[in-house]
Formats: sequence, structure tokens, C-alpha cells
Amino acid sequence: MRVVVIGGGVAGSASAIALTRVGFEVTVYEAYGDPAGPVGSYVSLAVNGLRALAALGCLEQVQEAGFPVARQLMWSGRGKLLGDVARGRNPEDTLHSVTLMRADLVTALRAEAWRSGARIVTGQRLAGSREPVTDGADLIVGADGIWSATRRELDPHAPQPVYAKLYYISGTSDGTRIRTEISRQGFNWIFAKRGVFIYLPAPDGSIWWTAQIASPQPPPDPAAVSLTDLAELFRTEPQAEAVLRAATGVRAANTGYVLAPVSRRYHGTTVLIGDAAHPVGAGQGASMAMEDAVVLARELAAADSVPAGLAAFDRQRHPRSGKLAKTETANRDAKTAGPVATRMREMIMPHVFNRFYEKATSWLYEYDPGSLPARQPR
Ligand SMILES: Cc1cc2nc3c(=O)[nH]c(=O)nc-3n(C[C@H](O)[C@H](O)[C@H](O)COP(=O)(O)OP(=O)(O)OC[C@H]3O[C@@H](n4cnc5c(N)ncnc54)[C@H](O)[C@@H]3O)c2cc1C
Repeated sequence: MRVVVIGGGVAGSASAIALTRVGFEVTVYEAYGDPAGPVGSYVSLAVNGLRALAALGCLEQVQEAGFPVARQLMWSGRGKLLGDVARGRNPEDTLHSVTLMRADLVTALRAEAWRSGARIVTGQRLAGSREPVTDGADLIVGADGIWSATRRELDPHAPQPVYAKLYYISGTSDGTRIRTEISRQGFNWIFAKRGVFIYLPAPDGSIWWTAQIASPQPPPDPAAVSLTDLAELFRTEPQAEAVLRAATGVRAANTGYVLAPVSRRYHGTTVLIGDAAHPVGAGQGASMAMEDAVVLARELAAADSVPAGLAAFDRQRHPRSGKLAKTETANRDAKTAGPVATRMREMIMPHVFNRFYEKATSWLYEYDPGSLPARQPR
């Protein structure tokens, strides 16, 4: 059984590991020469994503490439603590969420894919699933991200990404230069006037941060927004301003996009996974992409035919990604709330958030994609 995977990011590399493990012969085509290079910023993996990594056999490598984050603290702009919950897990779970650079995650997945026997061809962008290299393939996996060419090919009327009214700028600061009182632990989330400011202290003393800026129009070039402009945007939030004034560099600037539900996620022997099928946001995109990879391989290994395996995969994954997309919409609304909603949030959240959060997220964090069956002769 020969598989062509289009895209060698998180979903593509993870599916290469999983499909090779169950006995497929996998070739990944990745558009960029060094896709694991310094592309993007950091990602946080919740425990559901870590369980997928365990099934793929690279949990330890990823834990070593990042650092554990035990708590998530929610702050008002003026520095009032609104919530303090376990980060990306149920409180009793001893497995802790991991934060690492996206490039390091892709590097770890790619290395494991090679070890498993997958072939990875870099610097080759495929126009879709009808390229000569896919001739004779038994399965084509579209893991080509939010701008997926495979999605457009499966359905010319498939939705296109639209601007999410948020853009993101991530960077690092020197924690030792900050004199203002800021939190020195956990994943800190500040509800700011201009959006949300996230920062987390890393073990080396630096602070990793992301400014998520609500704006009806994206700036012509988010990368051209200066650190001084950013500090000005967050001048009414003392913790955010202090972190930005100690900045040592900007790592990534991105425009946020949302995608309406994709109705044709598989057809014949082609399937979409990861952001190509469901860019779920809510800090879960990488975790969901890796869950997809494990479930896809398991269902294909158990099925009589590729189309039956793809149908079984979709039956399992679609309800979960749909539920997560709704969570993301609620998150986005909270980031762009007006002054009245902000005031209400500051009054109500300290009383209800901790209890509510645990109940509301257990379906997400308790999920276990299961293990992969042993390699089968094909
Ligand atoms: C600012 C920001 C912060 C985020 N934070 C988090 C977080 O904290 N936790 C989390 O879990 N997720 C997070 N995400 C989301 C996460 O990065 C994505 O959901 C995840 O990377 C999806 O993986 P993917 O492989 O589907 O897509 P991508 O990572 O986009 O990979 C697609 C790959 O396909 C390649 N490609 C595209 N088209 C072609 C083609 N035609 N031919 C060949 N190759 C092609 C691309 O070069 C790329 O390497 C964040 C995203 C952003 C933008």
C-alpha cells in the first residue's frame, strides 16, 4: 500500500509516522526546503496531544525539546487575578502540558518519521493530488494546512480562510530586566483592551509572549509593527507593557484566519487532515493534527478498504473538531469583547471560572486517541 502525504508540517509528519508504523509505504512531499526551520513561534501541547505523541513513540523527545507548564493564570488588564487552573489537563492528571517551538516539534516528528521508514521529499510543492508523483498511490493524505490545495481540489466550492479580526505577534523578552511585578510561573493570559496578551516564563529566564491584537482590518504587514508600537497598544496593561519593554526580539507575526466548516473532507482515496480539514484554533491545532494522524492509521489498519477506513476516520474525528471549533468561536468573542462585557467578566470570572473551566474542558483533555496496532504485512 503506497501513500503520498502532501505537506510535511505537524499533521503530515505525524501521519507519516503513524501510517508507516501500521505497514504503509509513505512518501511526504513538503513545499519548503527546510520546513522545520525557524517558521512560526511556540505551540502549547495539551495532554490530549501528548497522548497522541506517546502513541507515535516520540513523547519523550518532545518533552525534552520544550518545558512543562503546570498552571494557567487569567488576568484582567489591570492585574486582577480572574482564574487559576491546571494548564491543558484535568487537575489530577500528572502529565503536564508542554510548550515548545513549533519548529522543534516538527523536527522531532520528522526525525521519528525517518526512523520509522517514511521518505520525506522537501522543496517540492504539489499542486494537489493529481500530480505525476501520486500516480498509483493507494492513499493521498492532504496535510497541506489552512490554504490546502487538496481541499480545493476535493471541492472547488470549499470555503476559503477569512481574516479572523485578530493578528498575532510573538517574541521573547529578558525576564531579568523586568522590575514591574509580573507572574513568574505558568501560562499567563491577560484580557487586554486591544485583545489578549499571553506570556510564559521559560526555564532559561526569558519570557515567551504573544500579543493577539483585535483589529477590524489586518495591518498591511504585521511584521512591520514595531515593539514600540506594541508597547503603546498595551500601555494600559502593566504586566504586558513591562514584558514588551524588555523584549529582545520578535519571532513571528501572523494574521489569524478562520475557515467555515469543510463539508467534503474525504473522497475516494483522498483525505484531509489537520488544518486542511479543520483549523480548530483554541491552542489545539497541533494536538488535533496529531490525534488525526493516530486515528487515521488505526482506522485504515482495521478497515477492509481505504474508502471504508476513511469513512470510519471521519465518523470519529468530525464531531470532535466541530465541538472544538465552537469553543474557538467563544474564545475569539472573549478576545474582542467591548468595555461592558469586559467589566462583567471582571466581576463574574473570579467566582465561577475555576469550577466551570474544569467541567467545560474535561471532554477535550480526557481524550485518548489510543495506541497503534502492530505493523501488519501488506
Ligand atoms: C500564532 C499561532 C499560534 C498557535 N498556537 C498553537 C498552540 O499553542 N497549540 C496548538 O496545538 N496549535 C497552535 N497553533 C496551530 C498549529 O500551529 C496548527 O494548527 C498546526 O500546525 C496544524 O498543522 P498542519 O500540519 O495541519 O498545518 P501546517 O503546520 O500549516 O503544515 C502544513 C505544511 O504543508 C506544507 N504545504 C502546504 N501546501 C503544500 C503543497 N501544495 N505541497 C507541499 N507542501 C505543502 C506547508 O509548507 C507546511 O509545512 C497555532 C497557530 C498559530 C498561527
